[in-house]
Amino acid sequence: MIIAIDGLTAAGKGTLAKRLAASLGFHHLDTGLIYRAVGAKLLAGGADPADAARAEAAARALEPADLRREGLRSEAASRAASIVAAIPGVRAALVEFQRRFARQAPGAVLDGRDIGTVICPDATVKLFVTASPEIRARRRFDELQARGESATYPAVFRDLQERDARDQARGTAPAKPAEDAIVLDTSALTADQVFDRALEIVRSRR
Ligand code: C5P
Repeated sequence: MIIAIDGLTAAGKGTLAKRLAASLGFHHLDTGLIYRAVGAKLLAGGADPADAARAEAAARALEPADLRREGLRSEAASRAASIVAAIPGVRAALVEFQRRFARQAPGAVLDGRDIGTVICPDATVKLFVTASPEIRARRRFDELQARGESATYPAVFRDLQERDARDQARGTAPAKPAEDAIVLDTSALTADQVFDRALEIVRSRR
């Protein structure tokens, strides 16, 4: 069984994916980490994340250890991730790794932007998690503060809008709900409520 959870930045998909996987005993892959790792590799080497040839080479050479690098959740890595993620060669290099992960028994939960549309179009359950930009920026800001990173709400909001625009407008695998995805708006829901709804949907498909 494959569960695809897509959505924009800080919509709540990561928290939901982790909880669903834990409660079902499934494997979980945060696919954003892959793009963050590629972006961070370029930054660490002093390269421009928009350099398509270098980004593609970094994506092809990616190793599991790269996903455990420090700093992948920083704002700099987030920005670099959304830049490398718009490069078609980078995406192509990462498809097979994600599909192999998804095929593991007894099941897998993958969260990202294009899981239901491109990576696993045959997923049993497809959710698209959304929330208003203000609420997503607030969640992201609180998360950065809790980690002790210096940030201001207006800067986080601006960054989030920039990333949304890049993720939704790109020609390859733009972030959008699959036609058969169930859209879950989490703006007015607690993490527990989101989890309960999602679990209900999964059970109805099992
Ligand atoms: O989900 P997260 O914020 O960690 O993703 C970081 C960036 O990676 C996103 O802004 C997006 O550009 C890219 N991404 C993607 N496709 C995915 C997952 C993430 O393009 N499946």
